[in-house]
Amino acid sequence: MFFPYDGVDSEKLIQMADISLTEAKRLGKNQYVFYNDDLEYRRVRKNWIEHHLNNALFNNEITVHYQPIVNPKTKVITGLEALARWYHPKEGAISPQEFIDVAESNGLIIPIGTYIVQIACQDLAELNKRGFENLFVSINLSLKQLKHPDFIPTVDRILQTYGLNAKQIQFEITETMTLQEDSELIKTIGELKNKQFRIAIDDFGKGFSSIGYLKQISVDTLKIDKSYVFNVLTDEKLAKLTNAIIIMGQLLHLDIVIEGVETKEHLAFINRFSNILAQGYYFSRPLPLEEFIESSINRN
Ligand code: C2E
Ligand code: CA
Ligand code: CA
Repeated sequence: MFFPYDGVDSEKLIQMADISLTEAKRLGKNQYVFYNDDLEYRRVRKNWIEHHLNNALFNNEITVHYQPIVNPKTKVITGLEALARWYHPKEGAISPQEFIDVAESNGLIIPIGTYIVQIACQDLAELNKRGFENLFVSINLSLKQLKHPDFIPTVDRILQTYGLNAKQIQFEITETMTLQEDSELIKTIGELKNKQFRIAIDDFGKGFSSIGYLKQISVDTLKIDKSYVFNVLTDEKLAKLTNAIIIMGQLLHLDIVIEGVETKEHLAFINRFSNILAQGYYFSRPLPLEEFIESSINRN
């Protein structure tokens, strides 16, 4: 980034430097990144999201879609992952990857996260009422949410409002280094387990800390990151690693979910394994609740 070529406003310059730094870190060690048009687009977009996210919640622009988690051999659906959606009347769909990041950095993840837990529980109660009593709903949590002192009381209150059993709810936590060093966080996860909520490690195998997690917290499910299934057909080593993760998970009596199953070739690969679950566009895209209910009724 160059002064005055890229700008003269100090706040903007600092933001640009920060974005270049984040990009350099994303690319790995010993990198430098010059500010460029792509980064400028992302800066403007991030500012736009920051300015509109607060209203999005109040204007009911945020909704939840559900993606089935299935037994790949029988196609029986065992659970649904709740995924946040934001549709802005002028800007259109904004991906959760973009707005969850912003929400995490400005604290809005707390009200948004609570709203998503509430909608997911309301929808789960509706599913139970309409005859889908054997499903669980899997809700993504950000670490900030989990660390908030009101998290467990809020979840308890929502559960009570909709008369739900904790066993029907799973919380997905993404692996990060922080968790292993944070005894408060480990305690909160333990409390959730005591209350019979299910805990899943999301994107397993993507970072470095996956195995460390398993030593410290009691989990029910490993969700193997999409990047595995995407490459197993061409990368023999990765295929073996996937096999090893599945064996390890099964030895620990964990449920294994393979994420990102998109094609019948992916399906053929995962069907070599027994007693696993899968999720991906091959089975279904994330759907609004009513669409999910209709498609399930039509299938049966
Ligand atoms: P995730 O938790 O790993 O969710 C799975 C993502 O993979 C979803 O993207 C889903 O639409 C996508 N996906 C599912 N099947 C396939 C497939 O076969 N191929 C490909 N290429 N993608 C597939 P989405 O909905 O865009 O969400 C992105 C991420 O945003 C999520 O990744 C999660 O980290 C975060 N997120 C979404 N909703 C929430 C939420 O309510 N709270 C929090 N904290 N994070 C959320
Ligand atoms: Ca997830
Ligand atoms: Ca995932």
